[in-house]
Amino acid sequence: MSAPRTRLRLPRFRRREDPRRATGYRGYRGSGRPLQWWAWLALGVGFLAAMWALWAACGAFPAVSALFRRVARLCSNCIGFFTGLLPIPAAELLVAAVVIVPLWWLCKVLKWRDWPALWRGLCRLVCLGCAAAFLFVFLYGVHHTAPSLASQMGLEVTQYSTAQLEAFVTHTVEQANALAAQVPRDEEGTCDFGSFRQMSKQSRREYSRIKQEYAVFDRPQAGLVKRSFLGGRIMSWVDLAGFYCPWVAESTVSTDVVDSHIPFNIAHENAHALGIGPEAECNFAAWLVCKDSEDIRFAYSGWLLAYIHAGNALHAADYEAWERQYRALCPEIIHDIAVLNESLKRFEDTKVNELGSAANDALIKATGQADGIRSYGRVVDLMLAYFSAVNE
Ligand SMILES: [Zn+2]
Repeated sequence: MSAPRTRLRLPRFRRREDPRRATGYRGYRGSGRPLQWWAWLALGVGFLAAMWALWAACGAFPAVSALFRRVARLCSNCIGFFTGLLPIPAAELLVAAVVIVPLWWLCKVLKWRDWPALWRGLCRLVCLGCAAAFLFVFLYGVHHTAPSLASQMGLEVTQYSTAQLEAFVTHTVEQANALAAQVPRDEEGTCDFGSFRQMSKQSRREYSRIKQEYAVFDRPQAGLVKRSFLGGRIMSWVDLAGFYCPWVAESTVSTDVVDSHIPFNIAHENAHALGIGPEAECNFAAWLVCKDSEDIRFAYSGWLLAYIHAGNALHAADYEAWERQYRALCPEIIHDIAVLNESLKRFEDTKVNELGSAANDALIKATGQADGIRSYGRVVDLMLAYFSAVNE
């Protein structure tokens, strides 16, 4: 006769009984206590203090700024090497993760009504935000403490007269008119510039070319600018044509814009990736690489954008002079400007668009550019300084 099998009764644990129980690594290893909420906040304050100290030291001492800019470029190149292996923009994956992961976590703790976990998690989020802010300054903000691009190129930026501005606009009209009919266009006559990747490679070649001319561009090459994969339309909603993401050392450009602007936008973001901070300087660098390019799409894009920026300045200074220049534009450019305005009108005057502009404005001001989003237009000062230097 065999003995009856006795069953060892084990306590039944229900997964939902205690939401605060330890899970994952700490659960089975039983290693030390997790950081207290106040320790996370203290760590966050430490990151902010380090960020402020770095920003102040780079602003006050040129040698410190030069050292940290070099370190930033080195770190960015290392990060960019790995993110460059991804076929889609790592920046967009990061943005998606930054939105989705905290939301998912918030839903979880709200579902459990686990208020201590909510508080601890919020403290961790604050710490993470402070660490991100420190990294922003460490990897990118320090470039805003560099000597101006104009001074490094020996250009003297002065107050220009309306006559000088009109002379420059006349020059941009002549250059753009000469190129407008030659660029690739579709059957409706709208610019159709083809492969984005090919233009991105061309932008790198252009920067290699101009570093022979201007030593200031003699820097290690950055990764290829990527086309937006997930968020081209979202970028249009928030009034962005491209952005450089320092945490992944990667530039992304939207293709939800007119083709005539894409080469210039790629060259602009490429300039950020090379360690140029101010928006006006990136626009200036983009114009420099585009204007003499053998690739007609780049040359046209450079002169068209130069006309738009300088023409807008002339519009504000002397409307009649602006009208004279506008009448001198060839039909192809008039068509391109109409297509551009039509494209921008889709998103203008919406709340999201205003919010996006305000956020971009605040971010640019935080890096020490007092003009905010208007600083893009400051490129006119630099182009005029360059124009008067070469025509002396
Ligand atoms: Zn920019």
